[in-house]
Amino acid sequence: MAAGAAPRGSVSKRGIRQTGEVLATFSSATKQDVQTAVKAAKGAFDKWRKTPAPRRGDLLLEAARILRHRKEDLGRTVTLEMGKILSEGLGDVQEAIDFYQYAAGEGRRMFGETVPSELPNKMCLTLRLPVGPVALITPWNFPIAIPGWKSGAALIAGCPILFKPSSLTPLCAAKFVEVLDEAGFPPGVVNLVAGSGSVVGDGLVAHPDVRAVSFTGGVETGRHVYEAAARKMIKVGLELGGKNAIIAMDDANLELLLDGVMFGAFGTAGQRCTATSRLIVHQRIYEQVVGELVERTEKLRVGNPLDEKTEMGPVASPDQEKKVLEYIDIGKKERSKLLTGGRKLKGPAYDRGFFLAPTIFAVGRKARLAQEELFGPVLSVLRAKDYADAVSIANAVKYGLSSSIYTNDLRQAFRAMQDLEAGITYVNAPTIGAEVQLPFGGTKDTGPTDTREAGPTALEEFTYWKTIYVDYSGRLQKAQIDTQRIVGG
Ligand code: NDP
Repeated sequence: MAAGAAPRGSVSKRGIRQTGEVLATFSSATKQDVQTAVKAAKGAFDKWRKTPAPRRGDLLLEAARILRHRKEDLGRTVTLEMGKILSEGLGDVQEAIDFYQYAAGEGRRMFGETVPSELPNKMCLTLRLPVGPVALITPWNFPIAIPGWKSGAALIAGCPILFKPSSLTPLCAAKFVEVLDEAGFPPGVVNLVAGSGSVVGDGLVAHPDVRAVSFTGGVETGRHVYEAAARKMIKVGLELGGKNAIIAMDDANLELLLDGVMFGAFGTAGQRCTATSRLIVHQRIYEQVVGELVERTEKLRVGNPLDEKTEMGPVASPDQEKKVLEYIDIGKKERSKLLTGGRKLKGPAYDRGFFLAPTIFAVGRKARLAQEELFGPVLSVLRAKDYADAVSIANAVKYGLSSSIYTNDLRQAFRAMQDLEAGITYVNAPTIGAEVQLPFGGTKDTGPTDTREAGPTALEEFTYWKTIYVDYSGRLQKAQIDTQRIVGG
């Protein structure tokens, strides 16, 4: 394991087939561990930033190769630790592989610019430089992919990392860091600091030697991190979730729409920041869409996420289950109409886990179910009069991450690309399915718009621009001076 405060993990030898069993035990990092890890990262920075970026890329490619080799084990670990179905667990790992490959190539680009000077015999250019040691604070819902996105960008940029995973998924984190260790990142470049948000998270954000923070999680925690980082005036990347909507227009291909809504709403049991949590349906097709959706939802196979026939697993933790059930209660109390689900599943297959029935409510525009992020398998359906009404409903939330429109009318599709207040818009596809070579992030309470993970923008979180002026005229040349007024100018 790389330098820093590594947790001691011991994987249980018992067969693990149901939730409630112990997977591994970890010690929680202390304040002193945070100091040790940051010191290791700081010590490694100079050598790492001077390592040519293509050589850093070679290490990322090696890590991608090892991830691929261990994909099955890592994917199963994701499923066992947080409960998403196995195909999604494997997809989680694949995203990290894809991003490491993409980021490795960035080592041979990392473009700056050459810009004309206003003076003769002078050259101007810009370079990207790494900011220094960076903290990566990650959630539990993509326990390999999100660390993969953040670390791939930071490492190729030349920043040593301090990786603080969610307390719910330390085993995935430890296995991911083992891969990086095996790939050969130098000591101190990769540091795992697993522990609580209040000790490790706060400790890292406040530490004077941590020069940027990349955070994914809930809005309130994100706001707290943003405030603490602002006091140090360091870079912060925040991705804080969404209340993502699909708009279904009356000319939509209904089969395509229903497939997309089921995948978007109930994939990963709705615990994706891009999950389809609202469906806004044109009034002309409302009854038909809702009827068919309920029918499909009631047939969804919920169960053991390791079983290949299962379509939806449990939610990740007792807290998640409690939160979703509370929202279901809120829905009932605020007189939203429960169309299906709305309960904890019971029976031998479910009693030891956090299994919820996939749920659909018909809701009003102001309902809390239409406004707040639940992060669970609950879809809120709203009725719209026309395109303009649908867009206004879609935009009437505090979040702005992902969005979608199903229509065969090109004019409507192109208008929606600009009208929807969100960092991502899909046309004829659900709100989930981001690809690593494109920018990922949102607007409004989803997070500040000046950073974007993934894609060519990924480097922004971890680098700053250095401007270089090279004067090869052999004499003092004065730019930005009114030469008319200077004697001998
Ligand atoms: P949090 O925002 O609390 O956790 C995300 C990460 O932040 C975890 O690593 C957590 O550590 C860490 N953290 C907690 N407190 C601090 C702190 N004071 N300073 C720095 N880091 C801290 O989310 P939860 O896991 O509690 O989930 C709550 C809700 O957040 C979900 O129901 C969902 O609505 C939303 N969420 C959004 C995600 C997204 O993709 N945008 C992902 C996950 C959750 P620790 O685990 O130790 O508390």
